[in-house]
Amino acid sequence: VPRRSLPGDVDADVAIVGAGFTGLWTACHLALLDPRLRVVVLEREVAGHGASGRNGGWCSALFPKSWTAVARRSGADAARALRRALVQAVDGVGRFCERHAIDAGYARGGTLTLARSPAQVTRLRARVADSLEWGGEARWLSAAEAVERVAAAGVLGAAWSAECAAVHPGRLVRGLADTAERLGVAVYERTPVVRVARGVAETRLGRVRCRFVVRATEAYTGGRALAPLYSHIVATAPLPDPVWAAIGWRDRETLADGRHRFVYAQRTGDGRIVIGGRGARYHYGSGVRPEHDRSRAAHDGLRAALVELFPRLADVEITHRWGGPFAVARDWWPWVAFDPATGLARAGGYAGDGVACAALAGRTLAELICGLDTERTRLPWVGRPSRRWEPEPLRWLGIHAGLAVRALADWQEDRSGRPSRLPAAFDSLLRS
Ligand SMILES: Cc1cc2nc3c(=O)[nH]c(=O)nc-3n(C[C@H](O)[C@H](O)[C@H](O)COP(=O)(O)OP(=O)(O)OC[C@H]3O[C@@H](n4cnc5c(N)ncnc54)[C@H](O)[C@@H]3O)c2cc1C
Repeated sequence: VPRRSLPGDVDADVAIVGAGFTGLWTACHLALLDPRLRVVVLEREVAGHGASGRNGGWCSALFPKSWTAVARRSGADAARALRRALVQAVDGVGRFCERHAIDAGYARGGTLTLARSPAQVTRLRARVADSLEWGGEARWLSAAEAVERVAAAGVLGAAWSAECAAVHPGRLVRGLADTAERLGVAVYERTPVVRVARGVAETRLGRVRCRFVVRATEAYTGGRALAPLYSHIVATAPLPDPVWAAIGWRDRETLADGRHRFVYAQRTGDGRIVIGGRGARYHYGSGVRPEHDRSRAAHDGLRAALVELFPRLADVEITHRWGGPFAVARDWWPWVAFDPATGLARAGGYAGDGVACAALAGRTLAELICGLDTERTRLPWVGRPSRRWEPEPLRWLGIHAGLAVRALADWQEDRSGRPSRLPAAFDSLLRS
């Protein structure tokens, strides 16, 4: 049952547009930092309707830019600080769930990325070395060690990283909305915001007059600051115990393969496999429409990828198929922005790494709004101006070229056995 809608004009201190992770973490932290603040969340559909309620549940310290790239732009200390803050955010999500009794199935088993070709072995070994260099907790696993953890087919080795937890995203986002309400935040659903300006968030049901407005609408924002890319997912029926005994996966590590067009997966708390990925999709004109959530080709491809990894699942029943948009900034830098002069704030562009990023962004936005100076408000993604995407048809062409380059790189690697240089060359050309 949806929550009530905005009842009419309301006065508040902070209006937050969007009840996803960004908006709800911001709301919870504002309420915890200053319980006197009147915080209002305005959600067009229901809490968790967007990417936050339908993602793959990787709560990871991944960042869309490499730490070397962050260091190049902001210095090595800033890169280390951001990395540390994201690792803390992964732990922080677990602690918050415990403290506020949110049953989000949080399991901090790390991530296992499977190398299934010689080129992937080379690339993933380099990834482990890079992670260690930046202070990460990572390890290269031999084929036997990897298969001992998760008995997938064709595995030549795997990169393991400690810095990830699996969560049930829907339960987490709904738990955050309930927690925000318990902390005194007003959450209104079925309340689309039609205009945001200094001191006001306007809906057709009434307006919220306030000092601060937070735009937390990520892929639904429109305009040219962020491009919405779609990812698709399928979930199996719960697997029988003997199948789990054969597959292993006891620590519920989040699981990926080492292709450029990778799959991401998790073993859920109720014994299903949820698997998504194999390339994103972009719809001309930054299209975001309910019909884009389902793609027969993408869903069939994911089932095939699952069976390729686990041939014993050839007859497995797929019970759920879905998809949704996440947002990418032109230079692939997510950002947290706050202008004290206008009171306008926003965060987004997490490029598919939004679970922990949004937790960190929400806490940071709350601290900025409260006028605090913390280790988070000084991180290098705060206040960075982002370049806008090109107008169409250039945007479509550029994004599709990037996606095609990744498909080509996988094909090249399968043939040559050596890592392809294409993605890095393309990225340095277009993403700088
Ligand atoms: C299929 C998929 C898989 C993903 N997998 C992962 C993963 O495993 N790990 C990871 O870290 N990240 C993943 N992501 C990315 C991650 O889910 C997002 O980056 C993150 O959830 C964004 O949170 P958000 O709150 O900023 O935006 P959203 O969750 O999209 O929330 C925005 C909200 O704003 C509302 N809204 C929009 N316009 C208005 C308006 N005008 N008025 C009022 N409300 C409005 C929307 O209804 C929505 O509820 C995935 C994304 C997708 C789509």
